[in-house]
Amino acid sequence: MTDITLDNVTKRFEDVTAVDSLGLEIDDGEFLVLVGPSGCGKSTTLRMLAGLESVTEGDILASGEPITDLEPKNRNVAMVFQNYALYPHMSAKRNMTFGMKSAGDYTDDEIEDRVTEAAAILDIEDLLERKPKALSGGERQRVAIGRALVRDPDYLLMDEPLSNLDAKLRIQMRAELSELHDELETTTIYVTHDQTEAMTLGDRVAVMNDGELQQVAKPQELYDYPANRFVAEFIGSPAMNTLPVEIRRDGDGYVAVGDGVDVQLPQTGDLDALEEEQLLLGIRPEDLHEDGANADTSIRATVSVTEPLGDTTLIHGEVAGTLAKFKVSARSSLRQGDTVEFGADLDRLHLFDDETGAAVY
Ligand code: ATP
Repeated sequence: MTDITLDNVTKRFEDVTAVDSLGLEIDDGEFLVLVGPSGCGKSTTLRMLAGLESVTEGDILASGEPITDLEPKNRNVAMVFQNYALYPHMSAKRNMTFGMKSAGDYTDDEIEDRVTEAAAILDIEDLLERKPKALSGGERQRVAIGRALVRDPDYLLMDEPLSNLDAKLRIQMRAELSELHDELETTTIYVTHDQTEAMTLGDRVAVMNDGELQQVAKPQELYDYPANRFVAEFIGSPAMNTLPVEIRRDGDGYVAVGDGVDVQLPQTGDLDALEEEQLLLGIRPEDLHEDGANADTSIRATVSVTEPLGDTTLIHGEVAGTLAKFKVSARSSLRQGDTVEFGADLDRLHLFDDETGAAVY
């Protein structure tokens, strides 16, 4: 039973602040994904959790006990790396048991039992005597995960473990990792830059940018209620559209008006406070509809490119000079150069502050 707390953790490398006052609580048995663009501080956070990197300020606690200054060997933690980090001259089995044997905390029988169990879970029983070069990428990664599991760690850290696998295998391994976690319920912190991977794997997802935590929430909540423009644009593919607007009173209600944009806002939230503010209207490509425009709501776009995706067609267009994307029916007759008025799902709109990016509606 292990929960992990990062209490105001900062990591500085000379003049670079890689992680800035990070506060996160990971529940016992939770699968938390850290996601963000390259250089946002994900790996540094993981390395601090592993004890491979010192903490400049703040504390890390495991089940309430400070572990900030503990050596890696004194934390019961296992880590799975992107490049597998297997010893090439050792068999898969020896790779899995090496750490346990050298730690000297287990009898030979215990080690044997644990390898048998982990190999069964990972379906690698027949590969145990092979050396890494005789294994495929996916098999190597299974051995690397097996090595982490045999130690029965209090918590498991994974740094982009699937990124060296081809797309098909990655999707398969993703599903297997989910199953594995459901079975073992080991507290897991998983780093990726891939938002789809984050959304499909995480019980909760923590989005980082520039060393700072942007939002931590369940996947659907991140998607539906992004806390700011960064999260809105990072989570979801294609990204949410953001169009410049001003909020104006219109009879009893409010409208968001901008070049090519005229959208009636549903009366929720405090719209009085936003009147005449310069904001960004956020709307996802799938929440715009080719046949949905009416007198109250229309977003006028010119089509630049049509991209057939099979089940739908993605339209790349411009709304008064701002690039925007729209998902339309695969049978849509829209062509490059067409101008079209889209309607919008009014309960799926977002408004972001133009300067800070914070969600205000
Ligand atoms: P990626 O997805 O590319 O691995 P990341 O989100 O994991 O990126 P980190 O590797 O944690 O990012 O790096 C965060 C920042 O800290 C970057 O600006 C990086 O250049 C810097 N950094 C990381 N390690 C060191 C180091 N040992 N010395 C100096 N700067 C470092």
